[in-house]
Amino acid sequence: MFPSFSSRMHRGLLASTALLLAPLGCATSSQVGAARDEAALRTDEPPRVKPKWGLVIHGGAGVISRENLSPEREAAMRAVLTEALQAGHAVLVKGGRGMDAVTAAIRVMEDSPYFNAGKGAVFNHDGVNELDAAVMDGKTRMAGAVAGVHHIQNPIDLARLVMEKSPHVMMVGDGAEAFAKSQGVPLVDAKYFYTEERWQGLQRALEQENAKGAPPAEQGQPSTPGQSPAQPQPQPGSSLTPGVDPITGDHKFGTVGAVALDMDGNLAAGTSTGGMTNKRFGRVGDSPIIGAGTYADERCAVSATGHGEFFIRYTVARDICARVEYQDLPLPEAANFVIHDVLVKAGGEGGVIAMDRQGHVAMPFNSSGMYRGYIGEDGTPTVAIFQQP
Ligand code: ASP
Repeated sequence: MFPSFSSRMHRGLLASTALLLAPLGCATSSQVGAARDEAALRTDEPPRVKPKWGLVIHGGAGVISRENLSPEREAAMRAVLTEALQAGHAVLVKGGRGMDAVTAAIRVMEDSPYFNAGKGAVFNHDGVNELDAAVMDGKTRMAGAVAGVHHIQNPIDLARLVMEKSPHVMMVGDGAEAFAKSQGVPLVDAKYFYTEERWQGLQRALEQENAKGAPPAEQGQPSTPGQSPAQPQPQPGSSLTPGVDPITGDHKFGTVGAVALDMDGNLAAGTSTGGMTNKRFGRVGDSPIIGAGTYADERCAVSATGHGEFFIRYTVARDICARVEYQDLPLPEAANFVIHDVLVKAGGEGGVIAMDRQGHVAMPFNSSGMYRGYIGEDGTPTVAIFQQP
């Protein structure tokens, strides 16, 4: 399914990439070289500085190769991640809630065309952007999620409204958009989500699918960007394609997410995504599924990125927190085990960011890269992308 995936996973395991964060990096801008950041992110030692509060973010995991990422593109992506960290930190440093920090950070990434969420969402098979998002508050265990929305600029905010202004946890499609209207959330034209890059990504995915000899119904060209979704005819054997970056040719999952621990010791998690390029039939991934791609309780918060079907079937986010709760495992150990053992054995590619209520951080991923970052009490943003420094 993913060429050379098992060998990549094997290498990842050999490297014992715990990715426990020691927030010692001194990155002050997106231009700071990767090596120092990566070194800070790649220690198996317990953090030497244990923050009382902080924020961790991701901008997707996958096959992200250094040689295919131009310096300009890398700098731009690091800048967005840095801005997202600073937006969350601005909330936390004033004593704000973890949930507010999570949504502030995610909004920055949703508004960027570089990440597969909000503005940068990938196209489904019908040439439509179909967005999913979820939030969860660890203290109250309240949660909100939306799936399959087409006209919501910041799905993370709508997910939060579902949590706060409705008796429900999850709303989908037209119903979710009707709820948005009832809450005064403006619906944007579907064209807002059009980016040439994502459109080319879909074309490339379709070409690859056609080259593999997909069934006739899967060989059709997508509709004009921004049109209403067509009604696809279910076909056996339909396939999903990890987001194909037309600039780099890499396969990646560009979902965004954040987890935060606030000064009051409360955890929160959120995730937002366009799903997977060429998805079809109303496919919903793990991101808006509480316990799969997003989860928070009083001791642990997780946001995931990767091949959603695996994360749903292995209830990845909740599994990590359950291991912390029932086995009393340190969070990094629990997160590493699920990503590098459970998921690898299942063939599931991706990663998570996680925090516990002591402020420990884990960022394991079994792919070659994951856009990620951390900010603690000192306000110094640390950003990393690749596995190897
Ligand atoms: N997990 C997302 C999904 O399957 C994809 C991603 O992480 O980019 O919808």
